[in-house]
Amino acid sequence: MRVAIVHYHELALKGRNRPFFEQRLVEHLRGALKDLGLRQVQALHGRIRVELAAETDWDVVRGRLAQAFGCTHFFLAHAVPMDVAQPDLEPVRTAAAVLTGRQAFTTFRVSAKRADKRFPWTSMDIERAVGEHVCATTGKKVKLKAPDLTIYIELASKEAYVAVERHAGPGGLPIGVSGKVACLFSGGIDSPVASYRMMKRGCRAMFVHFHGRPFVSRASEEKARDLVKILTPYQLVSRLYLVPFGEIQRQIVLGAPAAFRVVLYRRMMIRIAEELARREHCWAMVTGDSLGQVASQTPQNLSVVEEAATLPLLRPLIGMDKIEITGEAQAIGTFETSIEPDQDCCRLFVPPHPSTKTDLDHIRRIERHLDIGALTKQGLEAAESVDFAFPR
Ligand code: ATP
Ligand code: MG
Repeated sequence: MRVAIVHYHELALKGRNRPFFEQRLVEHLRGALKDLGLRQVQALHGRIRVELAAETDWDVVRGRLAQAFGCTHFFLAHAVPMDVAQPDLEPVRTAAAVLTGRQAFTTFRVSAKRADKRFPWTSMDIERAVGEHVCATTGKKVKLKAPDLTIYIELASKEAYVAVERHAGPGGLPIGVSGKVACLFSGGIDSPVASYRMMKRGCRAMFVHFHGRPFVSRASEEKARDLVKILTPYQLVSRLYLVPFGEIQRQIVLGAPAAFRVVLYRRMMIRIAEELARREHCWAMVTGDSLGQVASQTPQNLSVVEEAATLPLLRPLIGMDKIEITGEAQAIGTFETSIEPDQDCCRLFVPPHPSTKTDLDHIRRIERHLDIGALTKQGLEAAESVDFAFPR
C-alpha cells in the first residue's frame, strides 16, 4: 500500500497545543490532496500518515506536500504489515529489496527509526538486518557517507514504512494556527514575500490591493490576482479585496502639500484595510516595508503611517535588504509576476521630492482639511472581493 508519511518538528514542541496543531495539519492535508483519490489522513505517533489510492500520481502529491506549512519533510513510502506484539522484520526486508530492485544505484545505506520503542531491536539492528538482505539480493555495496541511495524505514506499532524518497517540506506552522491577518498587497516584489512569511508562521492571509482606477489601467489588479493565485496553494482558499484608490488620491492631492502625499496615501490605505481586516476577523495587518528602502520607509514615515492603525501592523521584511527579499521572491515563485510592468497607484500623483521626515502633528493638521471618514467610507463602499480556491 502506498502512503505519504509527513513529519513535523515545531509542532511536536508545542506541548498542550500539540493536538490542535496536528489536527490543523491533518485538515490542511485533507484539503490539499482532496482531488487526488486519497483514502485516509491520520495523525499517528508524531507523524501524519496519508493513505494514497493506487492511481494517485506521486509527483503531484510531492508538489502539494512541498507547499504544506508545518511539514518539515516527508517520505513517499510503501506500508507493510508489522505488529509490535509479534515483531517480524521479514516484510520490511522484502519490501526494501523489491523497491531497490527498481532503482539504479551502486551504493546505499539504510536509515531506520522506531516510532514505537517497544520493538525488540535498536534502529541499528534494523539497519543491519535490512542492509544485509539488500546486499544479498542486489549485490550492491553499503556506504554510510554520501551513498547513491538511502532506504528509509520507520516502524509504527501496526505497520512499517519503507521509502527511497525523502523530500523537504517548507517547515513553519500549519495555516490557521496563528489566526488570520490582512496583507496590504501591492503587486510589487515585497508584499507577496511578506504575506508568505506570515502564512509560513501559521497565519491565514487575506489580501487587500489598492488600485489606481479610474486613472490607470487594470494591470496592477491583474498582477495582484496572479500573485494571490501563486500563494493560494499554501492556504487553499484566499480572499482578495480590490479597492479603487485613484479618486481618494485625487482628493488628497487637492487638499495636501505634494511632499506629504505618499504618507497620506499610506495612512488612508491603513484605515481602509483595517476596516476590512476587522470584518474578516483579522488580528493584524501586514506590509512589505523594509527599513530605509524608499522614502515612505524611513523611521519617521514608518512611525507616522503606523499611527493610523489600531490593529498591530506587522512588517516581516523590516530587517531584510532588497537582494534577500528578491531571492525569497524567486524561491517562492512570485518574482516573475511581481516585475511585470504595471501602473501602480502609488506612482500616481507622486511628488518628485517626497518628505522623508514627516512629523505626526503636521500630518494631523493636514488631515483636518480632508474628510477622512468620508474617504474611508468611499473606499470601503467601492471595494470588491474575489475568492480563490486550490485545488480547483
Ligand atoms: P512592494 O514591493 O510590496 O510594492 P515597495 O518596495 O514598492 O513594496 P512601497 O511601495 O513603499 O514599497 O510599499 C510598501 C508597502 O505598502 C507594500 O509592501 C504594501 O504592503 C503596501 N502597499 C503599497 N502600495 C500598495 C497598494 N497599491 N495596495 C496595497 N498595499 C500597498
Ligand atoms: Mg510597491
